[in-house]
Parts: sequence; C-alpha cells; structure tokens
Amino acid sequence: MKRVAPPGVERSRWRDLDRLLLRSGNLVGPGFEPGEEVKEILHDMLHVLVIGAGGLGCELLKDLALTGFKKIDVIDMDTIDVSNLNRQFLFRMKDVGKSKATVAAERVMQRVHGVSVTPHFCRIEDKPPEFYQAFHIIVLGLDSVEARSWINGVVCGFLEYEDDGSVKQETIKPMVDGGTEGFKGHSRVIIPSVTPCFQCTMWLFPPQTKFPLCTLAETPRSAAHCIEWAHLIQWGQVRGAEVFDADVPEHMKWIYEQAVARAELFNIPGVTLQHTQGVVKNIIPAIPSTNAIVAASCALETLKMATMCSTGMSNYMMYMGAAGIYTHTVAYEKDPECIVCSAGVPVAIEESTTLEELMQQLCAQFPEKLATPSVSFQGCNLYMRGIFEEETRPNLAKRIIDLMEGATSGVLIVNDKKLHGPLRIQLSINAAQAMQT
Ligand SMILES: [Zn+2]
Repeated sequence: MKRVAPPGVERSRWRDLDRLLLRSGNLVGPGFEPGEEVKEILHDMLHVLVIGAGGLGCELLKDLALTGFKKIDVIDMDTIDVSNLNRQFLFRMKDVGKSKATVAAERVMQRVHGVSVTPHFCRIEDKPPEFYQAFHIIVLGLDSVEARSWINGVVCGFLEYEDDGSVKQETIKPMVDGGTEGFKGHSRVIIPSVTPCFQCTMWLFPPQTKFPLCTLAETPRSAAHCIEWAHLIQWGQVRGAEVFDADVPEHMKWIYEQAVARAELFNIPGVTLQHTQGVVKNIIPAIPSTNAIVAASCALETLKMATMCSTGMSNYMMYMGAAGIYTHTVAYEKDPECIVCSAGVPVAIEESTTLEELMQQLCAQFPEKLATPSVSFQGCNLYMRGIFEEETRPNLAKRIIDLMEGATSGVLIVNDKKLHGPLRIQLSINAAQAMQT
C-alpha cells in the first residue's frame, strides 16, 4: 500500500526519530519502551489538535508532521491576509482570502507523505467540549489571552476527582502552549491538575502597559509618549466631537502630525507614521525566527509527551531573543485554590445555610465568574436554570446539609454562562461548631 514515496524515503524520513524511539538511553522518561511499537503509536494512534494556523500554527503543523504525528486536526477562524505571507510560510499570494486552516492542511499533506490533516474553519467556541475531548494532546498556537483562557477552562473542565480529592488519571488532557511577542516567546506544558493551568499563572500576563497621563502631558521622554499624547489627550481636546477610528487614514495622519510637532517641541526623535500606527493600534511586530524557535520547542514537548522518549519540560520555558539568545525554564507551581483546575475552592458555610444563601455567597465571592449559577452535587441537579428551573426551585429554600443528605463536606459543581468550565466548590459545613456555640 505504501507507494508514492520511493523505497527508502520513508525510512530515511524517520531516521532521526528512530534514534530517539528505537533505543534506550539515560534521558528517557519513566516507562519508556524503545521499539517499533512506540513508533506505531506515534504514527497511527495519537491524534493531536493544533489550535491556530497563523505564525505559530504554520510552524507547529510542519514540525509535528515531520516529527511523525500522522493524525492532526487544525482549527482557525481566520482567513489569509497579504501581511501574513512573510512568516506564515504555508501560504502563497493566490491563497489570500482563503481559510488558514484549510490551506495549511492541504500544504502540509502535499509535502509530508502519509500525514492526514483535518481543517476546521471556525471559532474555537463553535466546537462543543466533546470535540476537544477526542484528542490525545492539544497544542496551542494562539495570540490571545482570552482564547487560551477559554480552551484552558474547557480542558480543565474534563477533570474529575475521586472523593479523596485525587484526580482520575483518565480525565487529564495535556496541552502544550506556545506564545510569541516580537523577540520574546514561551513554550509551556500544561497537564491539568499536575502542572499549573493557564489560570493558575494568569499573573504572567500583566495588563498592557499604559503610560501615566501626567507623563504624556508634562514630561514626554520617548516617541511613544508623544504619539500617545496625540492619541489620548490632543484628539479629545481638538477633535473631541469625533470618535477616533484607527482605520481611518486621515485620523491616523492627524495623530502622526500632532505627535511630530510634540516631538519637535521636546527634541525627541523617532516619530514615524509606521511607529504611530504601531503604538495606536498596539501592534507588536511578529518575528518569524521567534515563531520557529517556540514552535520547535512545543513540537518536541508534544513528542516527549506522546512517546516518553524523554522526561517533559518542567514546565515553562521563556525565550528572549532581543539581546542575544537567552532561554530559561522555570517550574511554576499550581495555585491550590485555582478555580479552574483545583479539586475545589474551599468554602465554609453554617449548618443553617440554604441553597439560595450559598448561591448568593458564591456570586459575591466570585463576581467575575458567576452571575446565574446552576448547582449540582454528586451528579444530582440541586438548582438548574432553563427548563429544569421550576422543578429544582423548591430546593432554593432548603438547607444545604439536607440536600447533601447530612454530609458535612462534599464537592458542589457550579456552572455558569460566565464560566468556560465547571467551578468546583469544596464545601465544609460547620455543623459541629454550630452545636458547640
Ligand atoms: Zn489552575
């Protein structure tokens, strides 16, 4: 059956992989068994999903296909823009306007014999959780915090815990995440419940740097200060009646001219129209080499995870390429109270607390996560929105301890439209204490 490729090509294509998979060594991971079987698992059984077919995604698809993954899906909602062509190397001029996922899948299949890439031209939110459940490993080539947060919530939502708080191993879905910003990049391994999830280390993404308005107004020191002054202050003072639109060339030109005048006043060099567009639209240039390095690291971690040919990265590698080449790997720690991946957020209530009171308490405690919660306990719906609302409404006035059939602790599952996955509440009821006092 294996035609198309001339004899020998297939063997030589996996020559480097054979060195890793067909013999043992000092660096192999726990339980690694070298041999043809592990190659077969890699080629024929493992199904990976690449999220994003942009700068990182193109590199990831090429790397994974050449690493021996033969069953790959890719999902991306974007179409190809002419400005992508310098680094998203799977695309050509004639592809402009077409789906990134579709074209990327075609190109990889043309070049790498025997690989099957299935494209999905849609938003990640359009797929149900079951879609994501079907993959063995999910590799993220995304450029937004929101999208990462969303998929993290979905994947951590698969976690199920035993009553003693230990995780059910089969519910763990590993992810490898890559990210780049100019000359900076990172790759990380997320094994929900084992390593920190995306939410655990949300602090790694600081809010976008904004200059203090007083600096802009009083003491500008850089071209960016002058541009932001024109954008945030001068526009409002001179053209306040109009809404600034960064996509209107005349508006951008006006900002640029104001910034130039401001820069001349303070003797500051470097204001150009391009720089003005970059600052106002918050554009960070994409550097192809950063994408290539980060994607290579992600593909390697995916291979390690798939075959155990080496122990995995622990658990976050950052790459700095601006002043030479520097990388550093840190083992970040899980947030034991992470509302996305932990066994449950500890919440204590009194014996007299009713379901309605608990729901009010939770909404007050997590105002950004909960607005219209539904609550279940051990698979039984205590209170549901929608068609079951009427049926479960009588429970609102009941005491939690009665709904939990006398148990003084347990895990409640809370769902809410604002959440991407379930919120686990590790509930403890102060029954003994209530009796003492
Ligand atoms: Zn977490």
